[in-house]
Formats: sequence, structure tokens, C-alpha cells
Amino acid sequence: MNIAVLALQGAFIEHEQMLQRLGVETFEIRQLRDWQHPKDGLILPGGESTVQMRLLSQLGLLEPIRQAIIGGLPVFGTCAGMILLSADHLGTMDFRVRRNAYGRQLGSFHTIHHVEGIGDEVPMTFIRAPYIEEVLSGDCQVMAEVDGHIVAARQGRQMATAFHPELDEDTRLHQYFIDIVKKTAV
Ligand code: GLN
Repeated sequence: MNIAVLALQGAFIEHEQMLQRLGVETFEIRQLRDWQHPKDGLILPGGESTVQMRLLSQLGLLEPIRQAIIGGLPVFGTCAGMILLSADHLGTMDFRVRRNAYGRQLGSFHTIHHVEGIGDEVPMTFIRAPYIEEVLSGDCQVMAEVDGHIVAARQGRQMATAFHPELDEDTRLHQYFIDIVKKTAV
């Protein structure tokens, strides 16, 4: 198994470290050429979604990535990565996000919460995070809600979290993604 990690900007190294700890090989997508490498899944990390969208478009990566996801490539987007997957961006997941949704004071916070399909006491680190303000189809399943706001969702082989599981010690969300990738590969 080899997982591509979008490495244009933001918190991608932490995803690589987490996947490596789980025994999974990773490689970085920095330019269009890297995308030719065989891959079983894709991580879209946190960072700044506006910058990431611009770079993806300039590098010619936007359409190939969108097509691969539509074609069934498993993808896990965190924070800015969740924004990228949303209806107004790549549009492969059926939800709309509100960016920087928690205001200035609460821009960054940590909590512990249940996640559907994962279990209890999942640590959640939010950094100027978005949340999902509207789910647009029944194909998209809510995995977690914090204070009435959706912060994790799954749709087929795609998953997205508003928080940063790669910044905590808990490996369950990455393991969950690896299990999706394994099922796809069979
Ligand atoms: N605020 C960023 C955005 O809107 C997301 C923050 C993050 O990824 N930690 O793109």
C-alpha cells in the first residue's frame, strides 16, 4: 500500500509520520509529475485552502485529482483538506462548509468526542477550522457533531474531518482510512 500525501503547503508531514507509524508507505505530491506514481489513497492535509486551491490549479493537479477521486481513489481530507473536498471546491463530497467557523476567540481548541464508526474519546484539535453547515445528499454520512456542528463525514471512499487527527496520538481515524483503502484494493 502506498498513500499519496498532497505536500504543497500545510500540515502534511504529520500525516506522513502517522501513516508510517501504522506501517504504511507514503509519498509526496508536489507537482504534476508526482501524480503519475501508483497510489492506493490520497491525503489532503490542513493548511490554507485558498492557497492550496490556487497551487493545485496552477500546477495542473486540480482536474487529475478530482477525476481520480470520482473514479474511486480513497481520500481523507483534514481541515483545509475537508474544504477542498466540499461542494464549492473539488465538489466530490456532498456538503457545504463554513470556513473559519469558530470565530476569533475560539479559533483553535481541543476537545474529546465520540466518532461514529470509530468510538468514544477521539481527541480533536481544531485550528481555525471549518465545519459542515449543510449536507447535500444522503450519500454523505455524518460521523461526528460537536456543539451541533458537523465536524466529520464519510461518503463512500471519501472521508473528511474539520479537526486534525494527525496532530494527536490517537491513530484510529487514520486506521479507519487505511481500512477503506484495503477494502478498495481487494
Ligand atoms: N482556516 C483554513 C482555511 O480556511 C483551514 C485551517 C486548517 O487547515 N487548519 O483554509
